Amino acid sequence: MYQFGPHKITESQVFFKSKYCLGLVNLKPITPGHVLVISRRVVPRLRDLSAEEATDMMLSAQKIGNVVEKEYQCTSLTTVIQDGPQAGQTVPHVHMHVIPRKIGDWANNDDIYDELAGKNKIRVDNEERLPRSEQEMKEESDMLRPFFTSIEE
Ligand code: AMP
Repeated sequence: MYQFGPHKITESQVFFKSKYCLGLVNLKPITPGHVLVISRRVVPRLRDLSAEEATDMMLSAQKIGNVVEKEYQCTSLTTVIQDGPQAGQTVPHVHMHVIPRKIGDWANNDDIYDELAGKNKIRVDNEERLPRSEQEMKEESDMLRPFFTSIEE
C-alpha cells in the first residue's frame, strides 16, 4: 500500500517504480491514458523535492509519456504539475500529470486546463468522467507495467 496525499493507493494501481517516484493509473482520468507520476515521499510541493528527486520525476515522466503516447495512439503529451492549491492542486502530494493528446481531443486545445481544474469541459467524444473501479484501474496498470523495467523496493 502507498500513500498519495490522504489517499491509499494499492499496489495494483502502480505500474512504474523508480528510485524516488511511482507511476499510478488515475482514479478519474480526463482522457484515456491520463496517468500520474508521484514522488515516493509524501510532500506537497515541487520545491520540497531534492534535486535528485525532481530529476527522477522528470525522467520518469519522459519514460511514461513515451509509452502512453504510443499505446493510446496519440501524437503529443500535456505534462503538468499543478503546484499548490491556487494552481489547481487538489491532492497535496507533488505529482505530474502525463496526458496523451491527439488532434481534436478538445474543441479548443487549452480547454484541457479547465478540465483538469474540474470544470468538466466536455471532451469532444463526450465521455463522462466518473471514478473508476479498482478492477478497471488494475487492468490498465497491468497493461502498462510490462513496458517498464522497475526498481523494486
Ligand atoms: P491535482 O488536481 O493536480 O491535484 O490532481 C489530482 C489528480 O489525482 C486527479 O487527476 C485525480 O483524478 C487524481 N486522483 C485523486 N485521487 C486518486 C486516487 N485515489 N488514485 C489515483 N488518482 C487519484
